[in-house]
Amino acid sequence: MDLSFSPEDEEYRIRLRAWLEKHQAELAGAAGLMQGGGSANILDAIGMAREWQRSLYEAGYVGLSWPKEYGGQEATLTQQVICSEELSRSNTPPLINTIGLTILGPTLVQHGTEDQKRRFLPKILTAEELWCQGFSEPGAGSDLAALRTRAEQDGDTFFVNGQKVWTSMAPIADWCFLLVRTDPSAPKREGISYLLCDMHTPGITVRPLRNAAGGIHFSEVFLEDVRIPATNLVGELHGGWSIARSTLGHERSGLSGVLSLETNLIRLWRTAGTLQRGDGVALDDPTLRRELAQRWIELEGLRHLGFRTLTAQIAGREPGASASVGKLFAAELRSRIAGTALKVEGSLAQVAKRSPHAVDRGRWHAAYFDAIGHSIGGGTAQIQRNTIAERVLGLPRSVPDELVKGGGPGE
Ligand SMILES: Cc1cc2nc3c(=O)[nH]c(=O)nc-3n(C[C@H](O)[C@H](O)[C@H](O)COP(=O)(O)OP(=O)(O)OC[C@H]3O[C@@H](n4cnc5c(N)ncnc54)[C@H](O)[C@@H]3O)c2cc1C
Repeated sequence: MDLSFSPEDEEYRIRLRAWLEKHQAELAGAAGLMQGGGSANILDAIGMAREWQRSLYEAGYVGLSWPKEYGGQEATLTQQVICSEELSRSNTPPLINTIGLTILGPTLVQHGTEDQKRRFLPKILTAEELWCQGFSEPGAGSDLAALRTRAEQDGDTFFVNGQKVWTSMAPIADWCFLLVRTDPSAPKREGISYLLCDMHTPGITVRPLRNAAGGIHFSEVFLEDVRIPATNLVGELHGGWSIARSTLGHERSGLSGVLSLETNLIRLWRTAGTLQRGDGVALDDPTLRRELAQRWIELEGLRHLGFRTLTAQIAGREPGASASVGKLFAAELRSRIAGTALKVEGSLAQVAKRSPHAVDRGRWHAAYFDAIGHSIGGGTAQIQRNTIAERVLGLPRSVPDELVKGGGPGE
């Protein structure tokens, strides 16, 4: 494992830090709006988040791994890690077009036609067009290949009918990448195609779903005779499954997850040091101090797991199943940190974010419920455990390949 950065990498870090410091005001505005602060409405928040991504892109800090000819930076893997470290430490809001940036973009780079790359990639980078992912359906989540949304081709148009669910970002997305069944008579993995769908096309109805934390994160999407030009087919007709598998296989080094947890834990530590408890503060309680220290130890474990994955990637090796270990452990740690936070808050933990009595604007109350989603989206904890059992521990297979959804959005 190599834990050092070269002098060039450190210079890159200093330049980025300087840029972030210079744009601190813009950053604070975007972060505040995206977290629902002030009197801003949702449209202001989205507009500001788009602008924030565009500024970051123009400064050269978005699309780091993408080819230069489509607007990317072709940065090294280490620079990508430094960038996500610094963005996370400066508490920047997440990029609004994450689904386009992390899932669709790399897929188009690999499988798209030249026209598709030139048409779609630059607008993903600038957040001019926001994307959502239409894979899951009622009855097709972990068992994604069971999907039933149909697309029938008539000349140069596909007509799509069916329903997607848990589609993050759907109400604000301009485009959606869809998995659809184009050959119902073929074995289930062989009759699927990958289409790019304009969300403003007639026949699309988006119904937002409220999650356990009270927020609207995902939606149901109904498609009725939706027309999609055949030029929006990615890869071969009926060849969508292997493209979806490669899309879902875009593993991250895992370090960006560590950094957001680190930011959370530091914030919680500060809260514990100021929140009144009896004659002192919550942090005076030895049980809470021990629990916070334990969370920090777990975070360090996750960080070193991330370094191990990164070292493998830099050496040109596949991160393999260690990425599943990282995803599973990160999701569990997120949930444990939120549980510790509720203990730090004591009886105030019941107070949700709109109340003036809420601690940290109700962040931990919401985080506790949101943590559940992190153990489901992008492949559930049980599916990650299956992968670890088979690929790390060498246990016998329990599920056929098509049941394993190994990545995706929703984190
Ligand atoms: C916050 C969030 C955001 C999301 N965003 C999107 C999105 O933008 N686009 C999209 O397409 N989808 C999205 N999803 C959907 C997500 O990919 C699915 O929820 C996930 O794949 C699980 O599918 P399911 O909900 O149908 O559960 P199911 O697959 O029905 O699973 C139900 C339970 O059975 C368990 N299970 C299933 N199969 C096995 C097995 N073989 N072995 C052991 N246990 C098993 C699961 O672990 C789970 O506990 C999102 C989900 C969440 C929570």
